[in-house]
Amino acid sequence: MKSNPKPRKIKVVTLGCPKNVVDSENLMKQIKTRSIELIHETSTDPADTVIINTCGFIREAKEESIDTILKYVEEKKSGRIRNLTVIGCLSERYKDDLRTEIPEVDRYFGVHNLREIVRSLGTDFKKELVGERHPITPDHYAYLKISEGCDRTCAFCTIPLIRGKHVSKPVEIVVREAETMVNKGVKEIMIIAQDLSSYGLDLYKKQKLKDLLMELANIRNLEWIRLHYAYPARFPQDILPLMREKKNICPYLDIPVQHISENILRRMRRGSSQKEILELITIIRDTVPNIALRTSLMVGHPGETEKEFEELVNFVNKVKFDRLGVFTYSHEEDTYGYSHYRDDIPEEVKTARKDRLMEIQQQISMDLNNNKIGKSFKVIVDGWEGDYYTGRTAFDSPEIDNEVLIKRESTELRTGEFYRVKITGADAFDLYGERCE
Ligand code: SF4
Repeated sequence: MKSNPKPRKIKVVTLGCPKNVVDSENLMKQIKTRSIELIHETSTDPADTVIINTCGFIREAKEESIDTILKYVEEKKSGRIRNLTVIGCLSERYKDDLRTEIPEVDRYFGVHNLREIVRSLGTDFKKELVGERHPITPDHYAYLKISEGCDRTCAFCTIPLIRGKHVSKPVEIVVREAETMVNKGVKEIMIIAQDLSSYGLDLYKKQKLKDLLMELANIRNLEWIRLHYAYPARFPQDILPLMREKKNICPYLDIPVQHISENILRRMRRGSSQKEILELITIIRDTVPNIALRTSLMVGHPGETEKEFEELVNFVNKVKFDRLGVFTYSHEEDTYGYSHYRDDIPEEVKTARKDRLMEIQQQISMDLNNNKIGKSFKVIVDGWEGDYYTGRTAFDSPEIDNEVLIKRESTELRTGEFYRVKITGADAFDLYGERCE
């Protein structure tokens, strides 16, 4: 294979979820050398090589990935870029089809090809840098992936097909990565995986999340640890007292439940019942006071009747999640759902059900935010936009949750620093506040 001359500038475009952000950060750390300048997608600077880290989870994500590829194919045709490489989940799933349909792309790689990607760019793979990252996120927060893949069998999901079996990273490796991040100024770490609840089952034959959190909570200067992508079935409840006791474990949990109707949970093959989910939510809230619960729900799953959707509406009204994401069912090839169910809910009905739930959540979020007016919270400043500094409380994860907006003319705040902020106003998805010390 003719090796490519060393590129001058490489641009990495990351689509999809924070797990892709970590993969891009690991790749960028490997390819960064003195003669290579790295830029991330936000920069409009021309680059001679572009790497697109794609998402292939559901229809919308696939469309966004393909549109992005086609955009850079045009850049290549116009001579503005010389080399176009596509990696990540979409490429893992559809490598052969993509090669046929979009031959202008120089190379397609999947999700387990870090070494090959690095070599294809004419750079050496450095074993000693495995696990290290070239930060894409702001310096004060980072995502820490503690496992790869998933052993669950959810009927609608392509992740196990793309990312493979569940593989936990050893505790000592995860802790070392976290320490390296904190030594470089990171104060907040989002713990991510496909399925956080199963952490350790493969490697230690038992759930190990509690032990991992104990070690992470002892890292000096690590101010906030936040948990994402927990799975309700066989949820490791032994972490809850630790979340209550440890000041630097945020009272925050992202736990996608997807649905609440018994029949739909069974058809989704979620492995947990309505009763179990409701009991778990009560146990979590009883054990960790004031915990912010984020969840994801899916509407329009094959067979979802009006009555079953109304069960979901009642569930959202009753439980009042602090944060909620709603997705419409996407009929994905090679999934159990694709081979066993018809995609029988019309798109407009799926969209109407999603909009209805988000409308209800908007009011719930407004009420919850109004209850915060007059109270003060520890806030981390992420930056500023227009007249406001933007920050977050311990109840808000970056990019997906509420922001705290503080007038810039009223005080001087530094990005990445914590401040005490009194909430003075609210709307559905943001809070307004003023510094109180
Ligand atoms: S837990 Fe279910 S939805 Fe989540 S990645 Fe695994 S199979 Fe997919």
